[in-house]
Amino acid sequence: MIIENTEMVLKSRGLCNHCLGRLFAKLGRGTNEERGRAIRFVLNMERSRRGLPPIQEPEKCELCANVFERIPELVGSMKKAASGIEFETFLVGSRFPKEVREMEEDIWREFGIETAEPINREFNRELGKAFGRATGKETSGSPDVVFIVEPYSGEIELQINPLYVYGRYRKLLRGIPQTPLPEFEDSVASIICRAFSRASGGKCVFKGAGREDVDVRMLGNGRPFIVEIKRPRRRGLDLDAIAREINASGKVEVLNLRFVSPKEAEEVLTRNHRKEYLALVRVDEGVTPEEAELVAEKLRGIEIHQRTPWRVRKARADRVRIRRVHEAEARWLDGNHFELQLVTDGGLYIKELISGDRGRTKPSVSDLLGKSAWCERLDVLNILDD
Ligand SMILES: [Zn+2]
Repeated sequence: MIIENTEMVLKSRGLCNHCLGRLFAKLGRGTNEERGRAIRFVLNMERSRRGLPPIQEPEKCELCANVFERIPELVGSMKKAASGIEFETFLVGSRFPKEVREMEEDIWREFGIETAEPINREFNRELGKAFGRATGKETSGSPDVVFIVEPYSGEIELQINPLYVYGRYRKLLRGIPQTPLPEFEDSVASIICRAFSRASGGKCVFKGAGREDVDVRMLGNGRPFIVEIKRPRRRGLDLDAIAREINASGKVEVLNLRFVSPKEAEEVLTRNHRKEYLALVRVDEGVTPEEAELVAEKLRGIEIHQRTPWRVRKARADRVRIRRVHEAEARWLDGNHFELQLVTDGGLYIKELISGDRGRTKPSVSDLLGKSAWCERLDVLNILDD
């Protein structure tokens, strides 16, 4: 069957051994080129028995125009495209013209061939093997870089996959926004990204798992964040050295830096962590130790209905969030101040929990106290993991 089919195909199309062998790619082992050579050999023995001339490999293949002979040259172009880029693993993709793909499918249809594979699959594999041999790099399903090759024009597009680094940050000083704001010189993001950009030669994007206000410190075990480094030129980053550089800022500290997969990065950013806060509460009408204690007691375990705060209503969709206060401790300081230490669900706005935000947060410390209360100072003490 294979020999009969081959004879019919080769009588109508001049195919190289790659393109011939590829028609039977799903049968047996070895490369398509080896398959094609073997089939042609047996076919020509059969023809010789019948007193017919052999069907040799054509000068120029009608289907692929000998594109596989271009592989050494393309390997050179790929090396050039990737010069100065650090990577260990790669993948090859190719863009074949529509005419080539259609001609190939015509042959499958015309001769009822069901054992073939498409030309780009063979080409990617062979080019990948050649590039691997030439460079010592390995192919991978989640590669550092992807080469997209146009086999006939020789154009190479190099995709450099991003790097993701997980970490936790502490913000030691008030007056630093998480992401850049015009009136502030520095931000948590810019301090962290500066070090990563310098080390990687790529473009760094900072994403925090939630955020705190400019005037709020982030202490304790720090807030989780992800740094995405786009088009890194260097991937083998010394994360300890980067942490030391960031920590030398005296404003922001990072800990637990490690590389993560895109999937892990996504999970870090969507997980909703409980948080521990320390708030300084001011009561202009005056407050007694007993009142402070009573507020803390009422807050424990309570469910808070919080409409999007007035101050962020332009940036966030207006809706009511339901969040719980899990723990609350009061420490009376003087006739107008007490401290509240809270553990709450993530996503509860603490300043509004205290003030009540003109009735948008219910109940609030003001409600529970029966007097107007304000958050004078706030720290995030810890972000609690499950
Ligand atoms: Zn060919």
